[in-house]
Amino acid sequence: MTHALWFRHALLPTGWAEQVRLELAAGVITSVATNTPPQPNDERHAIALPGLPNLHSHAFQRGMAGLAEVRGPSADSFWTWREVMYRFAHRIGPAEMQSIAAMAFVEMLESGFTRVGEFHYIHHAPDGTPYADLAEMGARLAAAADETGIALTLLPVLYHCGGFGGQPTGDGQRRFVNRPDLFGLLVSASRRAVGFLPDGVVGVAPHSLRAVTPDSLSLAVSQAQGGPIHIHIAEQMREVEDCVAWSSQRPVDWLLRHMPVNDQWCLVHATHMDRCETQRLAHSGAVAGLCPITEANLGDGLFNAGDFLAEGGRIGIGSDSNVLIDAAGELRLLEYGQRLTHRGRNMLAMDKGSTGRRLFDAALAGGTQALGQKRVGLVPGAAADLFSLKADHPSLVARRGDALLDGFIFAGRSMVDGVWRRGRRVVSDGRHHARDTVTVRFAKTLESLLS
Ligand SMILES: [Zn+2]
Repeated sequence: MTHALWFRHALLPTGWAEQVRLELAAGVITSVATNTPPQPNDERHAIALPGLPNLHSHAFQRGMAGLAEVRGPSADSFWTWREVMYRFAHRIGPAEMQSIAAMAFVEMLESGFTRVGEFHYIHHAPDGTPYADLAEMGARLAAAADETGIALTLLPVLYHCGGFGGQPTGDGQRRFVNRPDLFGLLVSASRRAVGFLPDGVVGVAPHSLRAVTPDSLSLAVSQAQGGPIHIHIAEQMREVEDCVAWSSQRPVDWLLRHMPVNDQWCLVHATHMDRCETQRLAHSGAVAGLCPITEANLGDGLFNAGDFLAEGGRIGIGSDSNVLIDAAGELRLLEYGQRLTHRGRNMLAMDKGSTGRRLFDAALAGGTQALGQKRVGLVPGAAADLFSLKADHPSLVARRGDALLDGFIFAGRSMVDGVWRRGRRVVSDGRHHARDTVTVRFAKTLESLLS
């Protein structure tokens, strides 16, 4: 079926254009015309932006958002948060996984994310026994993606050590653990689980340097088959210290020396890098997967974005713990972190350019690469994944061009109007079409999980 969308302003790869008409067929953009009037049956909207990739999410953690904000008897840290997360994770079965993920995906779409990278590690039943389908839980993420319309890059995780140097895992990790020699079976099962989605992608995710050995890391990487390879790295200072104690090298340094890190790779967080690591990672072609809201929530530290971008580094954004799902908010906090540290303004803008535009372009390009997509944006041949902004929002009126992006990122809430995925409208007036049913089911799930 062919139909067309018409926008007064649209951000194309070549820049902002006026009176833009997109023709769509079978979910794909077939033509882009500019300075052209709408035709009688065209859907008409104000401001179009390409959908953003959310390159790092653990969807199930949406169910515990706000539950780890109470001070405990000892000093709270990432590691005490992780204990809360483990307790929550152990109560989630397949139906709960789908219910919570659908809620997270609805909120992602409503904020302008149109693809999510699920860094997925709850594989087995609560007692650690594999499900009959090894990828049962991944299949539930795929079902939630199908229900809500978000595009999915599934990243099954290899997790088999409890610390650097092959330490044994603890009881709290029994649902995550796989034998490295059987990881290929999980990846194949994951490919079958997302096979029915029109543009599903499967990659691999060795969890972190503390959860694999050098040999099993190589094994996991060999299963990628050209797809994305994601790894958590250098998020916490304790992790850096443990890595140095184990190998005499810092985590990013170790990875760059021992693995063929290239544009297939996404290093999630990479918060703690020295100057040399920053330069080498920037030159590797890999993406640094930044999750500013979660990194702030967990007290991780601040990524050195200024130097990394100045060296030509590639970045993308992720909602990670989903404590708050907000595409514009991630970009805003990324910039504000730099302003607070360096006591300056417009820290990540190009010379004489808009900060919002620089952040948006970087997150679109980096996220696209990290999630294994080939062609995105408002161009012929790309899936019609896009969103529109409310032109009558007080922070968008009387503006055009990059000022619209600066308004969206820095000066408002609830600006997203419509969202389209493969040409199908899934959000209208800022609300996902399935929000009510998904919310009711999510509430029931949480009632039973938290009682
Ligand atoms: Zn993560």
